[in-house]
Amino acid sequence: MSAAEKNEPGAGRDGSPVAAAAHSGVVACWSCRGPTPAAEPFCATCGAVQPPGQLDHFRRLGLERGFALDTAEVERRYFALQRRLHPDRFATRGPRERALSQSQASSLNAAYETLMDPLRRAGYLLALEGIAVDRGDGQTIDDPELLMEAMEMREALADATDAASVKGVLDHASAAAESCRQDLARAFAAGDRAAAHRLTLRLKYLSKLVEEAGLRRLRLPAKVR
Ligand SMILES: [Zn+2]
Repeated sequence: MSAAEKNEPGAGRDGSPVAAAAHSGVVACWSCRGPTPAAEPFCATCGAVQPPGQLDHFRRLGLERGFALDTAEVERRYFALQRRLHPDRFATRGPRERALSQSQASSLNAAYETLMDPLRRAGYLLALEGIAVDRGDGQTIDDPELLMEAMEMREALADATDAASVKGVLDHASAAAESCRQDLARAFAAGDRAAAHRLTLRLKYLSKLVEEAGLRRLRLPAKVR
């Protein structure tokens, strides 16, 4: 028997659970010690809730990693898991399972909130590739073309003093954001990280502009709305 054949799932060559998990995606349940898939919140052997672990947000929801997502499917999976992790189901369990179910629920919420927001989803996908969108120095846009577009749109919003012109900026920014999301889906699907990074920065300022134009519209004096 070769060394590879002896390397059974659930028992890494060095005997460590981490090596075994990395090798096969199967870990030992903390409660019954039985084998259970690392991506599942409940033990396949005894049903006990498991620690949330280091799953990425896509895997946690059982989704393919990518920008283009069926949001109805994300919601369906999220609410199904949320029901199974409801605190009422753990009221009679021990403190460890109650604590683990809360950890699972908060990891699930983080996954859902990140994946449902296109801008956060794009930033997260880039982060998984080791690319930081926010460099933390406030100078996130250094592409001259992007910078010019952002400045022109800001000026248009600053100059918009009546309802029609604010609505004009809002509609323009909303349409640009929508086409930017479509471009992003194509860039991520093609594995073009440079384009995905640039489009994520563009979506970031477009989203901010949509938000600011919306607020501006609400704050216009009643007589010009
Ligand atoms: Zn178990």
